[in-house]
Amino acid sequence: MNPVRNPQAEPPLLDIRGLSKHFGSGPHPVRAVSDVSFSIARGETLGLVGESGSGKSTIGRLITRLLDPNAGQMLYQDSQQGQTDLAALSAAAYRPLRARLQIIFQDPYASLNPRMRIRQVLGEALDTHGLARGAAREPRIQALLQQVGLRPEHADRLPHEFSGGQRQRIGIARALAVEPEFIVADEPLSALDVSIQAQVVNLLGDLKEQLGLTLLFISHDLDVVEYLCDRVVVLYLGRVMEMAPTATLYSRSRHPYTQALLAAAPVLDPMQRRTIIPLKGDLPSPAHPPSGCVFRTRCPQAEARCAESATPLREVSAGHWTACWRE
Ligand code: ADP
Ligand code: MG
Repeated sequence: MNPVRNPQAEPPLLDIRGLSKHFGSGPHPVRAVSDVSFSIARGETLGLVGESGSGKSTIGRLITRLLDPNAGQMLYQDSQQGQTDLAALSAAAYRPLRARLQIIFQDPYASLNPRMRIRQVLGEALDTHGLARGAAREPRIQALLQQVGLRPEHADRLPHEFSGGQRQRIGIARALAVEPEFIVADEPLSALDVSIQAQVVNLLGDLKEQLGLTLLFISHDLDVVEYLCDRVVVLYLGRVMEMAPTATLYSRSRHPYTQALLAAAPVLDPMQRRTIIPLKGDLPSPAHPPSGCVFRTRCPQAEARCAESATPLREVSAGHWTACWRE
């Protein structure tokens, strides 16, 4: 179900196939992620969008193995170990890869120990992977601070002495400390003032270029996604509804869900950005998803056949996939 690729081209850095994650047991577990497939090329920035509860964070946590999947493959082209299925690795076998795949969260404050100075925060990240020991330590910490636009003296401060934007810079520095090649950024701007968001977006964009990073950018800000991402995957109730190169998705979306998201996004004044707001009608429970196409209960164009079977993703133009029958 992945986009057809040029066989001569390099395989994707990460190729996710049939990924599923259920929470709870019994007859009706919460199906947070169901049979999701997409890939990310090396150096690409892939946007992951969808309403709250659509499974975005769960996917980010599966990739970084903070959660274990129920099914599926996550084929990773590791620079040292060759192709590895992240889904099949034990926690112990995944550990060395943790330096390669890092995650940045919405609220870095929640994951910073309030009593640890930033030097210690970054030092701990370096220690975990045996990097920059002894005399190499302080220069590496200074380089990281500089890389994310913080000053040398910030190393001596505690998390509460920073603004929200600065704390997100610390979160980014901590992720970069271990020299990752793949970063999952899970709504990294949501806790920041609008005036600060642009700075952090620019920082992420610059770092990506400088360090050749690959980025999975989870966001509900449709403008930032359009600005930053090369391609976008649209999720609904744990399933991929549509994926396409960014310009294609924003100008010629084919799936009624994507169209509804783009139409619902308010553009009130030029300073206000388009964000994903919940559509009218209730989001079905992921423990009791509708039969057939899961979007059909809120789809303005649903037909009888939509209830009968799930609509497989099909490619409508190069790299543009939609899970809808409609032409
Ligand atoms: P998003 O990031 O798109 O808002 P999430 O991945 O956080 O969505 O959640 C997807 C679904 O999985 C939601 O219905 C959420 O309530 C559920 N979920 C997430 N984590 C857990 C968990 N640890 N236990 C039970 N349900 C969960
Ligand atoms: Mg989330």
